[in-house]
Amino acid sequence: MRVYNTHQRKSLIDFLKSNSNRSFTIEEIIIEMGEEISQSTAYRLMTKLVEDGLVHRSVKGNSRSFVYQFINNEKCEGHLHMKCTDCGKVYHLDHSTTVHMQNDIKNNTGFEIDSHTVLLGRCNTCKK
Ligand SMILES: [Zn+2]
Ligand SMILES: [Zn+2]
Repeated sequence: MRVYNTHQRKSLIDFLKSNSNRSFTIEEIIIEMGEEISQSTAYRLMTKLVEDGLVHRSVKGNSRSFVYQFINNEKCEGHLHMKCTDCGKVYHLDHSTTVHMQNDIKNNTGFEIDSHTVLLGRCNTCKK
């Protein structure tokens, strides 16, 4: 990998990390990052980051475009995630709610929910 790619990769990860509560299309990332990243590199790097598990990719509503969001795997151990089927944004369920839910289900059915489970639904913003 050439040096400029490494630099762009780092600034891309930094950008996504500091905006990990938001989800973006690649076009939005390119606009917001401005000259820090080139368009072709952004597309290539995002594909790679999804493969590496650093970034979550989901379909935005009924459209054919994808939104991307940084997911910190270490921080995300031990809680479930909720994904909005309209905007594609991923929300982190807090740890105690996760444990509560998992225990409830386990006690009632004996079924153990996998911690990588993603709950699908509509977020507060999209419900309006
Ligand atoms: Zn999380
Ligand atoms: Zn939403």
